Amino acid sequence: MSREFKLGPDHEYRFEVDFQNKVQIKLVEGTAEIFGTELAVGNTYTFSGRKAAVYTWHGCTLEVNGSCLVEYTASETPMTSYLNTHLALEQLRERAKSERELGPRVLVVGPHDVGKTSLCKVLVSYSLKQGGSPIYVSLDTTEGSITMPGTLTATSISNIIDVEEGFGSSATTAASMGSSTMPLAYYYGFESPDENVKLYKLVTTKLAEAVKRRMAMDDECRNSGIIIDTAGLIDQVGYDIIQHIVEQFEGHERLYSDMSRIYKNQNVSVVKLAKSGGVVERDKQFKTLLQRAKIREYFYGTPKCELSPYSMLVNNADVKIWRVGDVIAPTSALPLGMEGSSNETQVVRVDNYDMCFNSILAILNADDDEPENGLLECSVTGFIYVSDVNEERCKLTILSPSPGRLPRKHLLMGSFKWMES
Ligand code: ADP
Ligand code: MG
Repeated sequence: MSREFKLGPDHEYRFEVDFQNKVQIKLVEGTAEIFGTELAVGNTYTFSGRKAAVYTWHGCTLEVNGSCLVEYTASETPMTSYLNTHLALEQLRERAKSERELGPRVLVVGPHDVGKTSLCKVLVSYSLKQGGSPIYVSLDTTEGSITMPGTLTATSISNIIDVEEGFGSSATTAASMGSSTMPLAYYYGFESPDENVKLYKLVTTKLAEAVKRRMAMDDECRNSGIIIDTAGLIDQVGYDIIQHIVEQFEGHERLYSDMSRIYKNQNVSVVKLAKSGGVVERDKQFKTLLQRAKIREYFYGTPKCELSPYSMLVNNADVKIWRVGDVIAPTSALPLGMEGSSNETQVVRVDNYDMCFNSILAILNADDDEPENGLLECSVTGFIYVSDVNEERCKLTILSPSPGRLPRKHLLMGSFKWMES
């Protein structure tokens, strides 16, 4: 049943739709945006498995079809403070341009489900609208806003974010497996940073190094700076990780000994932003569905951009599968300052193929003769899914976004399992 919402200036329409339903939203009149990306008048946008808001600065009329779990309009939003944050960042970008320096590097931190990713989207979209091309770094391994859960990524955003599909839809990233348009990705392989802090830090460092190399080559990226999204890092382990991230993205000249002064350091400004009343908590079940949808999307695409993955047999001789050694006591469980076992950043071969059944494997950008201890420092060129194993004949049936031989031999297994349905 069709319904109309008339929104006044600085109002938003909030909606929640589950994975079984679809809702269609059309901007009939006025201007409106979803997390910073403008809607076109007369266009119909379709959403499924989404909780979001259509915001308007100047007022608009929306036509909505389909059934929502929740829908209402609200007048209290933090959008003005988000815009002011953006304007302050633009000033830093201007300065960076005239002084030929690095643009702002923004780290967004806070508990789970407070609107961090939404804020990142707004900041990225607004910068883009003003002609910038910021780098969006996602260190949230639960969600995997870009590519797969378990992955840390950096993407240079130069196209408008798709309002229906959100950030760098994984469909387009799968299509680019092995090519240079694949976002910069490193595979951590677990859901939460505290499952293996040492590995998480190692992978963050590698990502930061790669981002800095990219910025050194590209003036536009360098001036626009970086927007870094994280997962709820609020406990002691989280603080430790935040400091690590700040250090890695700050620049090499800052030394570890500066750490205790970080928050007083004039180069790091801390800005507190309010949580939107619209932000909804996503329960465990919704998150699991979100992860599954993300994995499915990597292989099969989205309604807008469908993909047909290839199922094929892989011989034992053609691949080397690795996983991170068993973590007996994760560093996060030990008293502060005590190092965990080095297993945390060591790979072991997976000889038992049954272990890989239903697993997601990251294809590492590693040469065939890459030494074992260098594997975890390699970026990722794509992902495959193990749909069947034949232990006796040493063969795997895999699902791959592209046909033919795998581009690389070394594969890294994490803790993510998936069931094709
Ligand atoms: P975080 O990244 O901090 O975990 P998100 O930005 O992903 O939080 O927000 C949590 C959920 O709330 C997401 O599904 C997001 O789309 C939704 N959300 C955020 N802001 C609003 C809003 N103003 N109205 C409705 N839903 C929102
Ligand atoms: Mg988030």
